[in-house]
Amino acid sequence: MTGKQQRFAELLKKHKLRVTKPRIAVLDVISDKEVAVSQPDLEKLLGREIDRVTLYRCLATFEEKGILHKVFDLHGTAAYAMCNASCSAEQHADQHVHFICSRCNQVYCLDDIKLPQLHIPQNYRLEQVGVNAIGICGACNQ
Ligand SMILES: [Zn+2]
Ligand SMILES: [Zn+2]
Ligand SMILES: [Zn+2]
Repeated sequence: MTGKQQRFAELLKKHKLRVTKPRIAVLDVISDKEVAVSQPDLEKLLGREIDRVTLYRCLATFEEKGILHKVFDLHGTAAYAMCNASCSAEQHADQHVHFICSRCNQVYCLDDIKLPQLHIPQNYRLEQVGVNAIGICGACNQ
């Protein structure tokens, strides 16, 4: 295992998940990109190593545990990005703006923009907040 894969193994253990090759491979691909990776792209990138069902289950587990978060691009296709360390199975704490480029359809996680505090009625339970900003990304705007 490389140092990076070792870190993913630690992450899986932290979330009480068994360390398996497909899980490491999925994290490896997603963490490599600065943009969210769409499910079809993941299938393309990992198709030789992981069958569809395993990939699907893997993504669902990661989302549930607070390792990955899902965001939809302009075509409604699911894309996945890494969560930060403060996310857990109870709550996704990395609530941030997703910038979706209307030219290249890439989804960027903009972690540094603070979201306003939402005052939710008392008997409601907040699990996730999402803000999508749509426009032209830096790469397309050159
Ligand atoms: Zn999260
Ligand atoms: Zn773009
Ligand atoms: Zn994100």
